[in-house]
Amino acid sequence: MEEKFASARKQFLMVLALSTLIVALTEVALYIYVQKPSKVSWQDYCVGNFYVPLAINLSVVVAIGIIINSPNIKPIVMNYACAIGFVILCTVVVTAHNDYPVLLAVFVIPVLWSTVFEDKLLCSVTHLLCQIGILQLTVTSSVLSSSRTIIVDADDLAEKVTDGIKGGSKVFDGDVLLNMSDDTRINTLWLNIILGILLVALARLFGHLMLVHLQKKDTMLQSHEKDNMALEKQLLRDQMTGLYNHTAFYEFLDRCVKMKGDEPLTLAVVDIDDFKKVNDTYGHDNGDEVILTLSKIMQDYCGSENYVCRYGGEEFAVIFPNSREKEARQTMMNILDAFRNTHYDWHSGSITFSCGVFQCSPYRMNAEEFFQITDKLLYKAKHNGKNQVCGG
Ligand code: GH3
Ligand code: MG
Ligand code: MG
Repeated sequence: MEEKFASARKQFLMVLALSTLIVALTEVALYIYVQKPSKVSWQDYCVGNFYVPLAINLSVVVAIGIIINSPNIKPIVMNYACAIGFVILCTVVVTAHNDYPVLLAVFVIPVLWSTVFEDKLLCSVTHLLCQIGILQLTVTSSVLSSSRTIIVDADDLAEKVTDGIKGGSKVFDGDVLLNMSDDTRINTLWLNIILGILLVALARLFGHLMLVHLQKKDTMLQSHEKDNMALEKQLLRDQMTGLYNHTAFYEFLDRCVKMKGDEPLTLAVVDIDDFKKVNDTYGHDNGDEVILTLSKIMQDYCGSENYVCRYGGEEFAVIFPNSREKEARQTMMNILDAFRNTHYDWHSGSITFSCGVFQCSPYRMNAEEFFQITDKLLYKAKHNGKNQVCGG
């Protein structure tokens, strides 16, 4: 069976690869429509906004692809690789655009997405990495803003000076104006960073609520499943031996006959020989021990793909949904061999059974006919002297 989150990781990788492509194309569009090619050269723009981010993002996508497709890596490591890779990608995007405060909100996505893996620690690690991403943005922003040459548009400058005069302020000299715009930018930056941290923390809170809800639902489903299994056991299993009971036997037989395809379907019915004598001579408790012994042997020899049933007091049946009569007969002969060679402390001889085995014929036959023919073979075995398996 495929691991629980295997498909979630594969889908995530596809979306991440698509996001990388979209981000790269957006960079080109931003250069053409927003950056005004006349101010920044394509080469300068490409290094910081296209080549380097694209190279890092592609490496992240390839690395995650390799990790989640490696058969030797544990699923939990794969989940962490996805979360860390996602935060790296967000950090790269945000760093390339530290002038766009709204991009801080990008970090909300991995924090919310990390709840997919239903792992509280992984969510906390992702949250921490995103907060580190925001702090890293603070550092790069302040480094960039202190080293950046501020280009002030001549018209823009004239407008600001006029506004200052209109507002009754003093006429500013160039330095004051530049310093003021620096202060404003730093205040805005800090405000954005605080908002970013709060936003990501809120996302973590919502993520946590989602996770708690998911886990509650999981626990409820598991307990329902357990109740169902217990109920099924009560309804379909025989209390004494744990084998399928009378109801289950007829239901399975009917279902197998109706759904029969090309696979051979074979039925075996078993009745313990002279069991009344065992009960009368050695007591009911010892009789029970014989029933339990036979049940155990039948389960051991038949495997989980076949239905072993106790459909009467000392009457048993095995439905072989994928065996020919010859194979089923051999299995029943092995069971008979093991059963008659069982030693009981209270009994010196051997206890045996008789068995009829029949393969469902290719022409249409209902479950009742199928059972009756097999039962007739059981009586043939009894008639022929018991202690034997009789085929069709
Ligand atoms: P035959 O070889 O023809 O089958 O003879 P038999 O004595 O086995 O006859 P039959 O199959 O009719 O015997 C059924 C007996 O099985 C009757 C009943 O007392 C006994 N029996 C049925 N259920 C149980 C049980 O759960 N425990 C015990 N100890 N005996 C049971
Ligand atoms: Mg009987
Ligand atoms: Mg009997």
